[in-house]
Amino acid sequence: MHYHVILTKECNLLCKYCGGGSDTPPKEIQYSTAELGSFLRQDRNPVVEFYGGEPLLRVGTMQAMMDEMPGRFVLQTNGIHLDRVEPRYLSKLSTVLVSIDGTEEVTDRQRGKGVYERVVRNVELIRRRGFRGDLVARMTVAQGTDIKENVRHLLRSGLFDHVHWQLDFGMFWEAGEYTEPGIQEWVAKYNSGISSLVDSWVDEMERAGRVEGMVPFIGVMESLLSGEKARLRCGSGLDFFSVLPDGRVSVCPVSVDFDFSIVGSIFRNTPASLRDVATVGDPCSSCDIIDVCGGRCLFVNRSQHLLRQDGYSLICTTVKHLVKELREAQPRVKAFAEHGVVKLSDFKYPVFNNGCEIIP
Ligand code: SF4
Ligand code: SF4
Repeated sequence: MHYHVILTKECNLLCKYCGGGSDTPPKEIQYSTAELGSFLRQDRNPVVEFYGGEPLLRVGTMQAMMDEMPGRFVLQTNGIHLDRVEPRYLSKLSTVLVSIDGTEEVTDRQRGKGVYERVVRNVELIRRRGFRGDLVARMTVAQGTDIKENVRHLLRSGLFDHVHWQLDFGMFWEAGEYTEPGIQEWVAKYNSGISSLVDSWVDEMERAGRVEGMVPFIGVMESLLSGEKARLRCGSGLDFFSVLPDGRVSVCPVSVDFDFSIVGSIFRNTPASLRDVATVGDPCSSCDIIDVCGGRCLFVNRSQHLLRQDGYSLICTTVKHLVKELREAQPRVKAFAEHGVVKLSDFKYPVFNNGCEIIP
């Protein structure tokens, strides 16, 4: 199973959609590495993803855990302190997910001046220092973002193996501090950008025999090619959990302050006792594309009362559009695979849950 280990709730940035970590106590780890290790050793194949706040504010704790704990290791970071990770630990990380929203202008507008430049410098540095794993650009797509331009920018940079994106939660919340006017118009523009990106993604397969690393497209296309039914793709409540600093276990790393989210503790539970503890309900369970979408987000599904009135349907408009475009592209992609232009294995991503939720 997959475990987000929250190393601290503190963060060194004040991104617009987050506000700089969480203030609920405790903010720092209260269990010992041995205690977490004995919980994880009951899982034959654990994936440990270091998370925060900003996990690299506690880089020493992360490295000590990597020395003592079993599993594959993933890091999700804002990238500011990537230069602090010692080379021998870089080579033990399977995947590094770095928050970056696209161009310098877009990234710095949301995350702070100078963030883009620092992240790019550090990503280049960890490659030079021997990181050979999967480097994923993790975009938060705020209202107003030109999705095509920003995804293309990150892929063109040549810095990342994959680009993954998720829509900023804030724009779908009940009218409040985050809500800007014009969301319906922006969703329509976003959908049109997705159409254009799907076209160019498939054209690139034909032109160069290359499946570009757009994570949402790869994950959904894999389901459309294999016919396998998707479950909630992030795995929250199924086989993906978050360990809070006091050892409690949450179904999701984002909803840690919500009662529904806390389902156990590393002291009382075994990993096996947590599996499938929570699933999405309506409208997802009765949706006609649940087998492809999987339900998108347990947190949103359980917090519908906090969304703006049309919030859920707006989100689903984007999911349904993306699935429709990929369904229409599927026969072409299938033909490419049959003729050896691309390989079916190109769509087997991620090979293990690496924290990419697939559905934006
Ligand atoms: S499209 Fe919307 S309603 Fe349907 S499964 Fe996905 S998130 Fe749920
Ligand atoms: S998609 Fe939703 S439920 Fe899944 S990890 Fe992200 S916020 Fe949590």
